[in-house]
Amino acid sequence: MSEKYLLTIDQGTTSTRAILFNTLGVPVKVAQREFPQIYPQDGWVEHDAVQIWEDTLLVCREVIGAADGGEVAAIGITNQRETTVVWNRETGRPICNAIVWQDRRTANRCETLKAEGLEAQVQEKTGLLLDPYFSGTKLAWILDEVSGARAAADKGQLAFGTIDSWLIWNLTKGRSHVTDATNASRTLLFNINDQNWDSEILNRLDIPHSMLPDVLDCCADFGTSDPEHFGVPIKIAGVAGDQQAATIGQACFDPGMMKATYGTGCFALLNTGPDKKLSENKLLSTIAYRLAGQPTYALEGSIFMAGATIQWVRDGLKLIQSAPESEELAVKANPESKVYLVPAFTGLGAPYWDPHARGAIIGLTRDTGVADIVRAAIESVSFQTRDLMEAMAGDTGGTLPADAPLRVDGGMVANDWFLQNLANMLGRPVERPTYAETTALGATYLAGLQVGIYSSLDDVTAAWQCDCRFEPNANADERDARYDGWQKAVARVLSSA
Ligand code: ADP
Repeated sequence: MSEKYLLTIDQGTTSTRAILFNTLGVPVKVAQREFPQIYPQDGWVEHDAVQIWEDTLLVCREVIGAADGGEVAAIGITNQRETTVVWNRETGRPICNAIVWQDRRTANRCETLKAEGLEAQVQEKTGLLLDPYFSGTKLAWILDEVSGARAAADKGQLAFGTIDSWLIWNLTKGRSHVTDATNASRTLLFNINDQNWDSEILNRLDIPHSMLPDVLDCCADFGTSDPEHFGVPIKIAGVAGDQQAATIGQACFDPGMMKATYGTGCFALLNTGPDKKLSENKLLSTIAYRLAGQPTYALEGSIFMAGATIQWVRDGLKLIQSAPESEELAVKANPESKVYLVPAFTGLGAPYWDPHARGAIIGLTRDTGVADIVRAAIESVSFQTRDLMEAMAGDTGGTLPADAPLRVDGGMVANDWFLQNLANMLGRPVERPTYAETTALGATYLAGLQVGIYSSLDDVTAAWQCDCRFEPNANADERDARYDGWQKAVARVLSSA
């Protein structure tokens, strides 16, 4: 029998990657292409969806050869979420650039909808907040502003999709217009209670139902790639948005299990099981994954500046030459220092959601040195994670066990000092897995589950391996005093201050 492989597409905000995995979840070959960000105006961020598709095809073709006569059993896809693509069903061409999740152009529209009292209803139905971040108002903007879009949509000529749908449409040469429940749950249009597109919200945003993809489980028959692309047809069998895929890659399958990904920003997800929990602390409720029609929900919190704070210390302040140097300096900092750095460069995310807050460094004394500022930068990520954990604990009514570990991944977790500081600040263990590419791994597992390479989530749990576990070793008073100082520092930068 020839060896089997799984092909995973990891379509991110700044690059498109393909990874060929063997059935043990070991990467055999990786190819990656970065692509340009398009900034037409202040606060606008766009991508060329055609380039994303062309890059996807190129990177897939680059790695597929490594199967070397073996069978590529299935394709898994994970992708930047919320980014909105609208294309013509006849020509397959997008009618405008994709509007990226970071784009703020619909801020006013969201404010108006909030003023009209829509937010409570939207939160109850979609688990989200009325924020430009999500796809719904971006899609409405395209219909309102792109010439001819509304008329074409009304005639059923246009299709909407997040990046997963767009890639599947192209892989299948227009035969499948589908998405998965995790990506759907980020659109602001999907009712996460009854698992349907929500007609009331669609009406309110004036979006025709005919534009929307069919919503499938994360393990499903999403279609088959056209043989012209890779020589043979390959089943597209697993799909999840990037943070959800990381949750799967980290094997967070029981309620109370959680992961945080520390890249540019940080995204933390807490599995809340089959019951949706609505947040009273401005976290999002979202679908972690949906298998065999059964959704598993999560609470999600995001921090805008995690690794990006270290980048700023490196490139803006020029206090360090490389990100890893931050660790050497943090070790040397004065442990008694009371310096706080609040990285509210673009406002603050969960649980504050204050777009107008701006950053600050406070608590400087005559003996404050570079090391203390660098340490404060790293600590700001730990403090912000604690903010999220406190909100999660509040939303789950105290059912988040104090000793439940936080599983971590992303570029910043190479920093051991950070992870020890994080464990101390949270008062709970922090676990770093052996294989850090959890997002791609999650999509691979989904595809493998669907085609029978893996038999259940238990296989994923068994495959997860801990590289290092950081136990908290600070006393509670010390930890709470530091955190209290952080909260006071944040209070001083909020726009209401
Ligand atoms: P993204 O996927 O968002 O581009 P990555 O997961 O590649 O991000 O992580 C890159 C981020 O991690 C950068 O912002 C960088 O500053 C940070 N980083 C990388 N190594 C370290 C380190 N040793 N200490 C602190 N931060 C680090």
